[in-house]
Amino acid sequence: MIDRDLLALAADLAARYLETLPARPVGKPVEAASLRATLGGPLPDDGVDPRMVIRELARDADPGLVASAGPCYFGFVIGGSLPAALAAEWLTAAWDQDAGNYVSAPAAAVVEEVAASWILDLLDLPREASVGFVTGATMANFTGLAAARHEVLARAGWDVEAQGLIGAPPVHVVVGEEAHVTIFAALGMLGLGRERVRRVPIDGQGRMRADALPRVLAECQGPTIVCAQAGNVNTGAFDPLADVAALTRSHGGWLHVDGAFGLWAAASPALRHHLVGAAAADSWATDAHKWLNVPYDSGLVIVAHPQAHRAAMRGVASYLMGAAVERDPFDWVPEFSRRARGFAVYAALRSLGRRGVAELVERCCRLARRMADALRRSAEVEILNEVVLNQVLVRFRPSRGDPGAFTRAVIAGVQRDGTAWCGGTTWQGKEAMRISFSNWSTSDEDVDRSAEAMLRTAAALRA
Ligand SMILES: *Cc1c(COP(=O)(O)O)cnc(C)c1O
Repeated sequence: MIDRDLLALAADLAARYLETLPARPVGKPVEAASLRATLGGPLPDDGVDPRMVIRELARDADPGLVASAGPCYFGFVIGGSLPAALAAEWLTAAWDQDAGNYVSAPAAAVVEEVAASWILDLLDLPREASVGFVTGATMANFTGLAAARHEVLARAGWDVEAQGLIGAPPVHVVVGEEAHVTIFAALGMLGLGRERVRRVPIDGQGRMRADALPRVLAECQGPTIVCAQAGNVNTGAFDPLADVAALTRSHGGWLHVDGAFGLWAAASPALRHHLVGAAAADSWATDAHKWLNVPYDSGLVIVAHPQAHRAAMRGVASYLMGAAVERDPFDWVPEFSRRARGFAVYAALRSLGRRGVAELVERCCRLARRMADALRRSAEVEILNEVVLNQVLVRFRPSRGDPGAFTRAVIAGVQRDGTAWCGGTTWQGKEAMRISFSNWSTSDEDVDRSAEAMLRTAAALRA
């Protein structure tokens, strides 16, 4: 029996949550012990009525929910959920398709294929590239680098999937000093080593210095992978991709671009100049759960060499042999059985359209500038980065004493205040507040009242 009331109850609780989301205190502090007290206890011997389970789950989880999907959450780079993407996600759960292969989920496989072609078009990447729907940019980096590892070793006559890395020709890995931590996690998991990398110096915005790359590449004889970045998590800056791509190519290396959020700038005519040269890379990682505002978890790996991508991922089982005429989603990702992530991505893209994606990205960047301008009006505020994208780094000056400690105190004060939520970071030796824009629902008014709360908090602490 389908319990319609149960599903209606869940929909109602979800809608109520979303209605209160904009007004909820953002990141209200909670004690883990109090969550354990209400949610914990031994597993019951007998089952509990599903409606009671859902009602109490919603009630007891509530104090520990962070309004990160709301308009005034500026921590990390999070993004919310577009209405169409969220609704498609509900259907995805109800349909419960195993989107691993075409046979078990034809609609999921075809929707992925369609969404993949839209993404290649939108981001202006090679139309023949392969796309995998992964959990996030971490696994997108992992998968792209696995394809890279396959290809650079195959060119050296080594089959890494069959033989592993023991005895293989050494693989050189080059990264910018500001490469994201997940690049190192991926390198560690791939046996390429977190600490074997060669690091290219960066400039004041965290961009890899292309003029320093030739010297580093000259030390790399044989298989080489270069990891560049589109969108620095602190400054939003882009590595000089055209130069990096040209240098990597003439060296015979593979270029992987981590564009977890920055790659979406390609969807905007006003911003795509940041990505000149990006299409000349060999693989790209990006997220759908950040700037595309698809619910967690959803990322995309894109590889210009489908054969290398598939060779790195494909696990062949005897019962899978046969006529693979259609695209099997698991050929392009590490998982075998998997959620049908394509539906929500498809729904997000279709509900926005090409223009809507561009507007979403441009609006976030405009709001970042609006925030920087609002804060800059105070003489006690210093904006540490060039606001070229969606990131703002802010330092607050105390009347006397250490600006680092004062900035830390302002961040804690803003978090307590609850109007907005921002985290802290250290940028080139300076402690700073980091403000990220990637939520579809953030408005000018949200930015203004958040800026006001930040300045009010700083003024109160200064007094
Ligand atoms: C967020 C981010 C990642 C990791 O992505 P997840 O989706 O959290 O796995 C990697 N690189 C950059 C630049 C990021 O911003």
